Amino acid sequence: MDEVGHAAEKIPSHLECAICWKLLLEPVSVPCGHTFCQGCLNQALGYRNVCSVCRAPVPPGQAVNILIRSMISEQYPRALAQRRQEQQEELLEAEQNAQLQRQTEVRGEGQDPQDPRDPEVFILPILRSGMLVLPQSRVDQELVSAQDEELVQFTLQGGRRVCLLQDGEDLGICMTVDDFRPRLGNHMSRAKLVGKFRARIIEPPQLHEGGFELGRFQAVFDTPLPLNELAELGAGEPAEEETTAAIARKCIELMEAQLEMLGSSSRYVFTENCGELPPLFRRRPGSAVTSADMEVFSFWLLGAILLDMPQRTRLRKSTDTKERLLGCHATLQAGGSRCILNLPGADSWMHPRQSPWSSMVLLLMIFALLLAKACGFFDSVIGRQRSLQSNRIM
Ligand SMILES: [Zn+2]
Ligand SMILES: [Zn+2]
Repeated sequence: MDEVGHAAEKIPSHLECAICWKLLLEPVSVPCGHTFCQGCLNQALGYRNVCSVCRAPVPPGQAVNILIRSMISEQYPRALAQRRQEQQEELLEAEQNAQLQRQTEVRGEGQDPQDPRDPEVFILPILRSGMLVLPQSRVDQELVSAQDEELVQFTLQGGRRVCLLQDGEDLGICMTVDDFRPRLGNHMSRAKLVGKFRARIIEPPQLHEGGFELGRFQAVFDTPLPLNELAELGAGEPAEEETTAAIARKCIELMEAQLEMLGSSSRYVFTENCGELPPLFRRRPGSAVTSADMEVFSFWLLGAILLDMPQRTRLRKSTDTKERLLGCHATLQAGGSRCILNLPGADSWMHPRQSPWSSMVLLLMIFALLLAKACGFFDSVIGRQRSLQSNRIM
């Protein structure tokens, strides 16, 4: 069987994966009989649920073939160790590339004034907003004040970046100005903003001569995940606790079920609002899912489902991707067959076209009614009506 012998550990071709042509890692045998690395198979199934060799249908949720796995680890221990090492190195390289890409993004493409004292610190003009925005949010912002308009004009000359910050908060979202439409007749000027990453203001802002504020910020990202959290299965034995990748996979399945409940028009509205389900595991063979991909996905999910405000605020601040995914997963699971997608109308937590004023007026009305009740206003009115009625009866 083994022509060269154990010393060289030449791998017979039937123990090679037909996708990556390497020694099978976490082998999965699909119903047609073909066997692939679990990672390779999951990537391939992201495109179509068919076998990559013979095109026979492959149902999702295939388990690792324990017999083949133990056979490989007994007969080819050194080749297996080397293969695992290679995989770790690939993951590490992908992680490092993602980190570099992030640093480039934080620095910005324009000529943002960099702080010479600390390269990690950058200066952004501050756009105050009443909305809670997430890193990937798209906002169509009405520029009511002259200062806001001045601010956007200022960014257009530089890096096109602003920080959208809620009053009283220190964690905002660095956003790029994608489009600016100046004031036209009765229509206010508007700016289309696209979220990039979280940014924390590190000292009180200063006033620019244009009337708007400038602040010194630091980028905030989630803590990078340990490499074993990026694999759907723990190396070797099944892990006691589910990995972040495994939770993300479950979230995708639940989201797909949620999306199936929507009619075509609601689906269109959802996609317009939240964007498509990110293709987290659908990638070219060999390109690994990184911590950064997981973070982006977790924020997309946070924006795509209905959550109560305290939880949304907490998960927005958190720097723990796994915690955010677990929170979303629990909500999706509790939702069951109920639609809990963030659609405008019913319970939408953020809808760009809804002005904060209308919600404010509604809140004030509810408050006034409560106040009236507390002061016994209704009791006296009802009391008066009752006495009127009794008078009539008499
Ligand atoms: Zn493979
Ligand atoms: Zn096949």
